[in-house]
Amino acid sequence: MDKKTREAIRYLGYGKNAVDEHTLSLISKSFQDLESVAVKKSIYRIFRIDHEDEYNFSIGKIHIYSKNLGKNLKGCDQIALLGATLGTKVDLLMNRYALTDMAQAVVMQSCAAAFLEEYCDACQDNIASQLQKEHLYLRPRFSPGYGDFDISYQKPLMKILDCAKTIGLTMTDSFMMSPTKSVTAVIGISSLKEPCHRSGCEECSKTDCQFRRDIL
Ligand code: SF4
Repeated sequence: MDKKTREAIRYLGYGKNAVDEHTLSLISKSFQDLESVAVKKSIYRIFRIDHEDEYNFSIGKIHIYSKNLGKNLKGCDQIALLGATLGTKVDLLMNRYALTDMAQAVVMQSCAAAFLEEYCDACQDNIASQLQKEHLYLRPRFSPGYGDFDISYQKPLMKILDCAKTIGLTMTDSFMMSPTKSVTAVIGISSLKEPCHRSGCEECSKTDCQFRRDIL
């Protein structure tokens, strides 16, 4: 079983319970559909980060207050700002299933989330390999809405990435992204070689790490 299938099962709430054959076939069908309709696009830019104190910092003209992100970015002078989307056709597909096949629609939601995560991992790997040449290393990615990093930061972050023009990603006044299966994320860049777990601190065995993103 590949990672995105495991993630989709987790998002469906199966936990450690065994997943039945019918659900597995719905998952398989969802990923096949996603492969054929998703138009993946991404953009990233590197920004300097100015730390005022531990929890207050600025990226360009955006002032951010967040204890959780501040802790994770400790020791980072730069960040990579990532925007990524699966495109509008995934929304059309999910809407169609919501009208015609509710079981498939529910599974599709989870699979699309896992598919987007997999794409973000690939984008992050690409950034990491570019930076490694300069002996710079990435921390785990951190999206608005995570811990105390307020969802409202999504809008200015999308603006400085010019997401509407570059990847066709916009946001409503109620912070809904369009296309919905999209993400923005801040990824700390550090000269300290922390062997960060790509899936984030929750999966990382370094429980005593001083940069651990502790959102509980
Ligand atoms: S806990 Fe692990 S993944 Fe999180 S910042 Fe530390 S080394 Fe990186």
